Amino acid sequence: MPSETEVRTALQAVHDPEIPVLSIVDLGVVSAIRISGADVEVDILPTFSGCPALGFMTEAVRRKVAELPGVEAVKVRLCLDPAWDTSRISARGRLALQSFGIAPPGDAPACPYCGSRETRLASSFGPTRCRSVYYCDSCRNPFEQMKAL
Ligand SMILES: [Zn+2]
Repeated sequence: MPSETEVRTALQAVHDPEIPVLSIVDLGVVSAIRISGADVEVDILPTFSGCPALGFMTEAVRRKVAELPGVEAVKVRLCLDPAWDTSRISARGRLALQSFGIAPPGDAPACPYCGSRETRLASSFGPTRCRSVYYCDSCRNPFEQMKAL
């Protein structure tokens, strides 16, 4: 029978399809893991409602955990309580976002490319509902910030 740590480590390999550098563990999506004999149940919290990534993530979690030795059945439950919010993103997750060119959620973001604070909001509507577009006045790069929730 697998340990909770083994399951959690396996889930580090499941990434948010929209942000491939960010694991769902660091995104704070994995809420609870229950193990009973060869049965594993994973609770995941939907992030931004309507993010089309959800079905993909559920399936990826199921497949990844099923690969662990000693696991026979995997159940993935979508949980709405506690509600996911951006404060669940781990320190490692925030760094991963930044390295991907997305400013982590928070107040006026620093540019993820040059670190400048001379940034301004270009559009509240980024390529996905989860992000806003900013413009850096120092290095003149547009970048995205994950919206705080
Ligand atoms: Zn910049």
